[in-house]
Amino acid sequence: VCGIIGYIGSRPAASVLIEGLRQLEYRGYDSFGIAVNGQKIGLLKRNGRIPEDFPEINSFLGTAGIGHTRWATHGIPSDRNAHPHLDCSGRIAVVHNGIIENYLSLKKELEQGGHCFQSETDSEVIPHLIEEYSGKGLLEAVRRATGRLTGSYAFLVIEEGGRGRIIAAKKSSPLVIGCGDGEMLAASDATPILDYTERVIYLEDDDIASISPDGVEVFQNGCRVERPASLIEWSREDVKRGGFPHFMEKEIFEQPEVLANSVRVLTELPDILEGVKGLTLVACGSSFHAGLIFKYLLERVAGIPVRCELASEFKYHPSPARDPVIAVTQSGETADTNSALQVARSYNCPTIAITNVLGSSVTRIADMVIFLKAGPEISVAATKSFIAQCGVLARLADLLSGGKYRTTLLKANVAISDVLRAEFEDAVDLCSGARSLFYIGRGAFYPVALEGALKMKEISYIHAEGFAAGEIKHGPFALLSEDTPVIAVCPPGETYEVMNSNIKEIKARGTPVIVLGRRSDREISRISDLFIPMPEGDIITDIMASTVILQLLAYRTAVRLGREIDRPKNLAKCVTVE
Ligand code: GLU
Repeated sequence: VCGIIGYIGSRPAASVLIEGLRQLEYRGYDSFGIAVNGQKIGLLKRNGRIPEDFPEINSFLGTAGIGHTRWATHGIPSDRNAHPHLDCSGRIAVVHNGIIENYLSLKKELEQGGHCFQSETDSEVIPHLIEEYSGKGLLEAVRRATGRLTGSYAFLVIEEGGRGRIIAAKKSSPLVIGCGDGEMLAASDATPILDYTERVIYLEDDDIASISPDGVEVFQNGCRVERPASLIEWSREDVKRGGFPHFMEKEIFEQPEVLANSVRVLTELPDILEGVKGLTLVACGSSFHAGLIFKYLLERVAGIPVRCELASEFKYHPSPARDPVIAVTQSGETADTNSALQVARSYNCPTIAITNVLGSSVTRIADMVIFLKAGPEISVAATKSFIAQCGVLARLADLLSGGKYRTTLLKANVAISDVLRAEFEDAVDLCSGARSLFYIGRGAFYPVALEGALKMKEISYIHAEGFAAGEIKHGPFALLSEDTPVIAVCPPGETYEVMNSNIKEIKARGTPVIVLGRRSDREISRISDLFIPMPEGDIITDIMASTVILQLLAYRTAVRLGREIDRPKNLAKCVTVE
């Protein structure tokens, strides 16, 4: 994920691009850059966010250009890796959003053909490929280049002295064209376009567009196609949130795609983990719950013990073993997790960081980094980053167990798509009137219960606790009443019979029970007060589906109560103090 923008018209392009990038920064913000077509192509690329005051852009003359605000996937955030990227001649500039999956083989081929690369990005293959094919004009060169690319992209190209146009290409990443009066824009979403025009064209996959100040021509497989313009009726904020009322809901709905990506992050077992006899995992909050899920998944199939430790406690009981230590942190800046990893290093344990932010502090501490690729998460309450952590860790369990979860992991995203459609207003009614909520589960569904309760308390401010179902009789039972509903995660499997008994025991105390179970499970739906069905599947799909249902339950309850969803009080997205 990142933001791209292009402008062609009569205004100074640089300031249009920079202002547009500021509005796209929610999509990515580790570095930025612009290329403006004046006498020559003028290029500016910088690590970090766009400064408030930015007089340098006044030196860029030219009324056509492209810009990028990056969320790095290949190569750390740095000046060199920032987009736009150029071809060898410096005459072709490209900004790219997405991932070119076959970039390594293309890069090798291009280097053998004499091309020199300046960055570590996947994106840089695009300008070099276009250069390679440029004999027949820019449009045809882009068409040929896209024929070589696999993966996802939305990219924009300008060429020095080119006939006053921007070429755009799109596949699986968003691209919108804005049609103004004597000026045209192209961007990842309509937010930066709205200052100039409300008339937009949404490009379709495999479209290639040639954009000039007076209009746009769109092609598919070399043939002209019509793409009618429509009027944007959303506000700027609506556009940013993709039409969802809150970033949290948008991010929940991105999860099928995020999960599908995350289970493909690791193609083989990292060397550090080859022949490993035990593992320690350190994390905080939701990341800790993902770690616990990993522990259950791995230990049941591989006989490799996992110590899952709260990062803030790790230093008080140092690891007796010298096993590898895995730190899980969305932001890569979580102070407790980073200092736990430093402690692990001081014991000479091999270290791995699993994070969503390439180039973050944790990536400079660990021996090896695994990148979540969930895209920027704006809502303070973690949702898609949690699913990505579960996806990456489940894949790790799969690799450590010789493929025990392989088939199911590849289709687990379907289970999420299924439950995103679920409606459970009666459960939302019950939760929004509750004094306290208790979440219970066993085995891998115990951390699912912990995460469900955490989501609920974070955004609805209702007191919510997760318990291993077996523990509830050792104290929490004293608190049960009519207005302390219990939410039980009860899929089939080794925990089913005993969960079934626990649910009955709770009901016998007059406490209402909401049960998450398989759709076909008549028995459990009969004993529950409210039943929320999950699709048929296995332990992996049950973990993912129940997690997403509990996110939606928290979200809808908080909406019902009129809470501040994306920025809950007293909380911060990135906890940089211990
Ligand atoms: N893969 C490209 C890079 O790492 C684009 C990243 C993006 O779309 O966020 O530079």
